[in-house]
Amino acid sequence: MPRNRPGALRGARPAPGPRFWKEPPPARIPGLSARTSLAIHRAERLSPGFWFSRGATETALRRYRAFLHPPGNRPRYPRESYCPSCPGCALDDVRQARDALADILPLLPPRARAELRRAVTPLDRRYLRLTLPDPLAGPAAPWWHRRLAKGVEGW
Ligand SMILES: [Zn+2]
Repeated sequence: MPRNRPGALRGARPAPGPRFWKEPPPARIPGLSARTSLAIHRAERLSPGFWFSRGATETALRRYRAFLHPPGNRPRYPRESYCPSCPGCALDDVRQARDALADILPLLPPRARAELRRAVTPLDRRYLRLTLPDPLAGPAAPWWHRRLAKGVEGW
């Protein structure tokens, strides 16, 4: 019997997956599993679009948490980014951070999507509770944009 049957050789190759990327696998996104972090990393890499640079989802999630983090129930006001046309700075505006999260969700496989959604849902609830409705907001905008805003981030 030949020692290296083609099937055995195929089996000996490294499994496709994280090794496919030349760069090291991304660090785990705080609050998410390694598997979901990797799925997010892949979606960011494979998707064209304004947000989808490496780490954009992690930045967006961190920004969303930071906006809601200070304890207490005083109202919070989203602020425009000082530099909205570059993706990194745009995420300073919590509404843009929420946009980025909304945009990555449909690009994820079902389990990763469900896990990210579970991480975002309690933040959405708190955001809704702590921000105020903007009566002048256009009805077509996503709900997280239809909240009263104030000023510009970084001024
Ligand atoms: Zn910028």
